[in-house]
This record gives sequence, structure tokens and C-alpha cells, in this order.
Amino acid sequence: MDSCAHPSLMSVEQALSHLLEQLSVKSETAKFPIEKSHGHYLADSATAQTDIPSFANSAMDGYAFAYDDLANNSSLEITHHILAGDTTSHQLNAGECARIMTGAPLPIGADTVVMQERTEVNDNHMSINGSVKKGENVRLPGESIAQGTQVALSGDKISAAHIGLFASIGLTSVQCFKPLTIGIFSTGDELKQPGQPLEFGQIYDSNRAMLAAILHQLPVQVIDYGAINDDLEAITQVLATADKQCDAVISSAGVSVGTADFTKTALETLGQIEFWKVAMKPGKPFAFGRLSNSVFFGLPGNPVSAMVTFLQLVVPALTKLGGGKVHPSVRWPAIATTPFKKRPGRTDFQRAIAHVNAQGHWEVQSSGFQGSATLTTFIGANCFAVLEKDRGPVSKGEIVQIEMIPSILTA
Ligand code: AMP
Ligand code: MG
Repeated sequence: MDSCAHPSLMSVEQALSHLLEQLSVKSETAKFPIEKSHGHYLADSATAQTDIPSFANSAMDGYAFAYDDLANNSSLEITHHILAGDTTSHQLNAGECARIMTGAPLPIGADTVVMQERTEVNDNHMSINGSVKKGENVRLPGESIAQGTQVALSGDKISAAHIGLFASIGLTSVQCFKPLTIGIFSTGDELKQPGQPLEFGQIYDSNRAMLAAILHQLPVQVIDYGAINDDLEAITQVLATADKQCDAVISSAGVSVGTADFTKTALETLGQIEFWKVAMKPGKPFAFGRLSNSVFFGLPGNPVSAMVTFLQLVVPALTKLGGGKVHPSVRWPAIATTPFKKRPGRTDFQRAIAHVNAQGHWEVQSSGFQGSATLTTFIGANCFAVLEKDRGPVSKGEIVQIEMIPSILTA
């Protein structure tokens, strides 16, 4: 029997919901100046204390007047010049208008602004070419944000737009979740570091640098514990140290059933760990558990498997631990323009290249050899073709679901 189709495999969806169910926010909160809040998770909602804008103002460079005045006057006398930032309160009388700039406060008595391109000025009188609508080009108080509106919610990842919004409602700081401390290490006697000569049977440790690169783009601090030999004592020691110093510990390799895989034995003495077989490809062996202080994630050793399990399972888990809102993956259908090799039994996350064709439809092609040690198929790929668990081979022309590879990976 194909072990990949074994019924005890857990689906990716089950694995993710188990993780999220068992985890709760671990980060504490602190006040962050808004300019330092980018990329952090908001811990409190942010509410506008006043209307934005707080005063009626012009949306154009033009002339402000009372609409009803047009019924009695073919032209209006220009009696005021109002610039943005003018803090005096101007008043129009019947038959008058004000030259007004974008963002300048509307004078009392005015309700409409005509853009200057549609006007003519003669002898300090303004007349309008064509028709205008009552109230046009006026921004009303509270039009952008009404007083009391929650502009951001707890768990939002703070973007540049959030920061602009915070500034627009007058905030100087916001309450955020503090970054989690994440420990990472690789395991394997075969691992050498780039720069060292390779002997027969050895490979370079690619997982650690790759995972660190992604983690550095998340709101976390990273402690790198290096590459650890397949040695029970060494692994136990690094796990014990990392547990004390970190909120979450992530290792790669040593979570399958190989005889030299000591991670399992070490973990069993230090905490409560579950070893899962997740029905995903690449992927499958995955460990999750709790040490005394931290949460542990054990990724498969093969680099593509490590990356895909990290993105699909660990990133959402870290988001929840760190106080962020976990959003479901966004997928949509695309037409396969190449065949995709696939066997039923596991959900495949194949690296692929998607684009919109001349008819406006999404098309997707495989980015090449899908070996779980072959990182090259990530280069140039912009999406995963997510091929359902029970699906077999995909022929050209069939519809498949695609999910964009997050920019933290493609950068
Ligand atoms: P394991 O999970 O220990 O059985 O490892 C599975 C495969 O991943 C083996 O071929 C390992 O040599 C490889 N591997 C393990 N760790 C790394 C790493 N840090 N970088 C690249 N390949 C690795
Ligand atoms: Mg190994």
C-alpha cells in the first residue's frame, strides 16, 4: 500500500486548525510610537476621537459660493481668498464668492465649490461655464472618518496606510504586541556551513539561512542556535537553552523515523510533543508541542518541505502566538497550461507561474521539477498550484486552484 495514502495522515486543514486551536496569544503588549509600529500587530482598536476632516473644506482649487445665489446672479463678486491652513472664519454675503484652494476651510454661507477650470473672471467677478451641482467639490466634516469610528482593530498587522490613518486621527503611539522571540536550529550530521569544504556525503545547511530570512520579515526576534549534530545530548542541550530564551523554537530535520533522528527522543524528555503525518506534499513529517516555556515546531529536513510546511502551518501559528489575526489563504481558479504530476493522497503545493491571459483569465504552468530538495523551482515561481488531496494527475486545460507565494518569500 502507498504509505502516502495512509488513512492516519492528517489533512493540512486539520493540522492547521489543531495548531490554531491549541495556541493562544503569547506576546505581551507595549506602547509603540506610530513611526515604530510598522509590521507589528495592533493590541487595541484605534478610534477616531473627532470627525475627519473636522471642518467643511474644498476638494478643488476654485471658487466657493452659496448654490442658491446662482439663481439671482450671473456672476459673483470675489471678496475672499482662502488658502489651506487659513484659521480665520470667513463669511460670504449674498452675491459673493471666495477664491479657495484645495483643503482650505469653506467660508460660512458657502455650500458649493466650482473648479477654476470651469470659470471665467472679469473685473473681479466670477462666472461659471456650464452647470454645477449643489454641494459639489465640498468635503463635509466626518466624510473620511466619522467621530467614534474604529479605524483599526486588535490583531491588524500595521501597514503604512494604518500609520497614515493613525497620524490623521492625531495618535502619536499605539498599543502593540511585542515581538516574539523565535529560536531556530538545524539538525543533521551531514550538514556543513557555506564556506566550509564539503566531504563526500555532506551537504550545505540551506534551511536555517532561508528560515531566518523569512523570520526577519515578521514581527519577531530571531535567535539562531546553529546546526546541531545528530547527537542526543547536543540536541537536548540546545532545546533546553532555546526553551528558556524563546517563545517558540523551530528546528528542521529529524522529525521522521530515521534511526539517527534524536530530536524526537530529546523532545520527549523535555515536553509534550506530537508527531504528525500531514497529508501534504512536499511536507508530511511535522512535530508540534510544548516545552516548559515555549512552543515547538519541527519541520521536515528537505528544504522545499521545510519551506512549504513553514509557510502553511508555522507562519499562521506564529501570527496567532504574536497577537495577529490569522487570515485564511486566498485561492482562485486558473487554467493549467502544462500538465501537473500528481498522485491522490496528499494535498500538493506545486511551485508554479501564473499570469492573466489576453482574454483576462488566469493561467498557470508548473515551474519545473518538484523534488522536495529542489529549491530552484521557487525561483521565478509566483504561486503554488494547490492540488486537492484526492486528485490525480492534472492535464493541460484543467482548472486548478492557485495561491500566491507570499512576498516574504519572493521579496
Ligand atoms: P531528515 O528529516 O533528517 O530525514 O532529513 C531529510 C532530508 O533533508 C535529508 O536528505 C537531509 O540531508 C536533508 N536536510 C536536512 N537538514 C537540512 C538542511 N538544514 N539543509 C538542507 N537539507 C537538509
Ligand atoms: Mg536527518
